[in-house]
Formats: sequence, C-alpha cells, structure tokens
Amino acid sequence: MALVDLLTLAEEKPELKSKVYRELLELGLSTPDYCYLCGRCSGGCTSMRLLELKPHEIAALARDGFIEELVGSEIIWACAQCLQCRERCPQGVSPVDIILKLRSIAVSRGAELPEELSKMMMSILDTGLIQEPREVVGRSGRKYTREALRLPPAPRPKDMAAFSEALMSTLEVVLGGV
Ligand code: SF4
Ligand code: SF4
Repeated sequence: MALVDLLTLAEEKPELKSKVYRELLELGLSTPDYCYLCGRCSGGCTSMRLLELKPHEIAALARDGFIEELVGSEIIWACAQCLQCRERCPQGVSPVDIILKLRSIAVSRGAELPEELSKMMMSILDTGLIQEPREVVGRSGRKYTREALRLPPAPRPKDMAAFSEALMSTLEVVLGGV
C-alpha cells in the first residue's frame, strides 16, 4: 500500500515511537525531535530517485508518530544504506538509523524482505560476505579479478559456523520483543 494511503488510516502509537526513540538514544544518536528540516540529509541521499519520501521527511513522520504507517510502507526498503544522511546531519539525527529501526520492526512482524536483501542475508550467512567479489572492468573493457589486481583474497570469518550462529543470535536479540 502506498504511504499516502497508509497515512489516511493513521492511528497514534506512542509506545512504538518511544521504543524507536529509546533505541536511537542507546546508539548515541539524537531523536527526530532535534531535526529542524534543513534538508542536508536529503541533499546527499543516494536513493533519492527511489524514495517516495526524502530522508528528512521520514525523520519528520517518525517525530510526528507515524511509525506504524512507515513500517507498513515499501519506502523503508528503498534506502541504500550509504550513510550519507547520518554523516551530513548537523543535529546528530540519523534518518538511516530510523529506517533500520523501522525495518527491524517490519521483519519481526513477518514482513517479507525484498529479494535482493534476502539474497544478501543468505550470502552473509553462507560466506560472511554480502556477495562474492566481482570482476571489475577497466577502461579498455578488459575484466580484472582481485588476483589480477594483486589484491589479497576478500577476508572471511575463520569459523563460518560460529559466525553464522553469532549472527543469528544477534538478529534474534535485535528483532526480539518488538
Ligand atoms: S542511508 Fe539511505 S536515506 Fe540515508 S542518504 Fe543513504 S540512501 Fe538516503
Ligand atoms: S540533516 Fe538532520 S536536521 Fe537536517 S533535515 Fe536531515 S535529519 Fe533533519
């Protein structure tokens, strides 16, 4: 459902907003209350073309308590997590962390991950990498592997089983009790 439709059905959920605020404070970030809508975050957003709403508008909606509506929207999956908004905010507000909190709530409620994100998660669980290293194309059109560029192999966890177990436990803690 489009966010604009969800907003017309909006219900205030102060406990959910308090939870998101508490978790942002635990990360040492400012809450969206400190946002004065300067737009610096949106000016550097990598996903601007994908986002139905700009990062500063997401922060404003979170501040106004539309957490439930944002959680149910596809918007939260469009962010590329480039962290520009966190870097650029003069107030210590981090739209990307607000988005990640909203994703956690959505997943804990059984929301299906977008296909690309699912593939990335499976790859991390299997190999410790979001994807296997790819060849890069030089100016001449020739392809180069890491080895050809004399780069060391991409570092991976030494004990994959222990790594996967730790990651799953962390996810359970992060997603638990939402
Ligand atoms: S982290 Fe997401 S919301 Fe923030 S600037 Fe990057 S793409 Fe945009
Ligand atoms: S950069 Fe920070 S203060 Fe400015 S609009 Fe974005 S979140 Fe708000």
